[in-house]
Amino acid sequence: MIDPRQIAASIVGAVDWQSEVSGFCRCPGESLHTHKTGKKDCRVSVDGAPTIYCFHSSCAAAVTSANLNLRKQIGGSPWQIILPGGKTLRSGDVLQASGNVLPREVVQARAKAEGREAGEQLILETLVAVAERFKPELFEKFQWPFAQIIADSPLQVHQRDADDQFRTWLKLWPAHSHVWVGDIYSSGRPEHRTHFRPVADWYQIGPVMGNFTCGSAFKPGSFQRSNANCDGTRFLVVESDTLAKDDMGAVFAYLNRRLHFNLHAIIDTAGKSLHGWCDAPRDKRIEARLKAVLTVFGCDPKLFTYSQPVRVPGAYRDGKLQRIVWLKD
Ligand SMILES: [Zn+2]
Repeated sequence: MIDPRQIAASIVGAVDWQSEVSGFCRCPGESLHTHKTGKKDCRVSVDGAPTIYCFHSSCAAAVTSANLNLRKQIGGSPWQIILPGGKTLRSGDVLQASGNVLPREVVQARAKAEGREAGEQLILETLVAVAERFKPELFEKFQWPFAQIIADSPLQVHQRDADDQFRTWLKLWPAHSHVWVGDIYSSGRPEHRTHFRPVADWYQIGPVMGNFTCGSAFKPGSFQRSNANCDGTRFLVVESDTLAKDDMGAVFAYLNRRLHFNLHAIIDTAGKSLHGWCDAPRDKRIEARLKAVLTVFGCDPKLFTYSQPVRVPGAYRDGKLQRIVWLKD
């Protein structure tokens, strides 16, 4: 029977194994890195869908081709490993962060239940396990504390007043967009139509109609904040109930620099958290993958409900201004 770890090592070279199935290795595209390479930047895992994962993005083509080779060679014949404690891990099973084995039959059943291809379901389950593994390195490598976020902002915006904050935020939207501003319950009845207005109207009105908005624009005439009324113009607003402001920056930096989700603004909610306004995923497949990994990092899965209310810059929350602290030039 083959040992998948030997196959992995024959493709990426020596592996510094951190567990029975995953370890640090040299990136197959290291010569293409445009930033300094760290010892823990690239990782290979042989469980689930065998995967090489690197924190750099300039090496993507080389990593993709090495991944194809890795999956082809490891997937070629069945294997099994006895884990410490006596559990058996077979080809296609996923070793979860808890130490439990997710059997390949369960992955297949989930694929069926979700209406997804089995291969894509295996990639999703593997992503969750792999993201758990690289999470500590991610928060270290992409570290971006709150004070540094403010200092790094291409446009200095954090000290602007309430009206200026609101109008600066309005400029993120395409001019024709109809945007909702209100309080949580300013939605659902015809009289709430007044909270759904074109950007130009809001520019005149200012930040006086409520503390919340949405990452999505709505169809003209809407009076209910629902996914069905979204017009397709939208941002992904990344938030977390658990990550502190100093940790959240790492998630934004990872999304922006590594995954290229194009960060537009970071908003201080005048509470414990920061919100990152990014480009929305291009399609359902990318969205499901992103949702899986962001949840591992501690982000709120509700952020993928596009009619979810979020804090609007320029409004006051208990006397403190909700404000933009980082803005793309
Ligand atoms: Zn790389």
